[in-house]
Amino acid sequence: MDTLVYPIGNKLYINLTNACTNACEFCIRNGREGMGGGSLWLEKEHSTEEYLALMPQRGEYAEVVFCGFGEPILRLDTLLALGTELKNRGIPVRLNTNGQGNLIYQRNIAPALSAAVDTVSISLNAPTAEEYDALCHSSFGTAAFEGLLSFAEECKRAGMRTVLSVVDTIGEAKIAACRKITDSLGVELRVRVFE
Ligand code: SF4
Repeated sequence: MDTLVYPIGNKLYINLTNACTNACEFCIRNGREGMGGGSLWLEKEHSTEEYLALMPQRGEYAEVVFCGFGEPILRLDTLLALGTELKNRGIPVRLNTNGQGNLIYQRNIAPALSAAVDTVSISLNAPTAEEYDALCHSSFGTAAFEGLLSFAEECKRAGMRTVLSVVDTIGEAKIAACRKITDSLGVELRVRVFE
């Protein structure tokens, strides 16, 4: 049976799709079945209604996070429906994304997202387009990097808390270069401990 949602600690994670526009060298899909126990590989994509039936009530979880074995923005309609419902229930909503949403849809989706998401966490991964491409192999090529930076700006402009993340293993020099980028965009930088 497919795992549509899965709890880790006091957070509930929503697994919308296994599809992604990236093929990151470090993707946990390479060699792992999932997070927190069960497999996150989906045999098929499931309907909005199936997910809606699994959404928690206020107080059950501290936060609900769109973060699957894939890029949640590829299922934008379902993401918007679920996020809007969760926000109506008073539950904080976070989206973990590769930041390529505006490239995928060829329009600015940030205003629509802001009705469904409180915090957008975008994987920055590297300080330059070339280094990002070498790690993430986006189907948009080196344009992915500028695309994600401009998406971050639009998310901030649309009123969402916007965080760009890197892992600590990239080293201090690259982290400093990434911090310059986030400072110039006026968004947060999160340095994650690589597990
Ligand atoms: S963006 Fe995320 S889901 Fe997509 S390949 Fe990279 S690590 Fe995996």
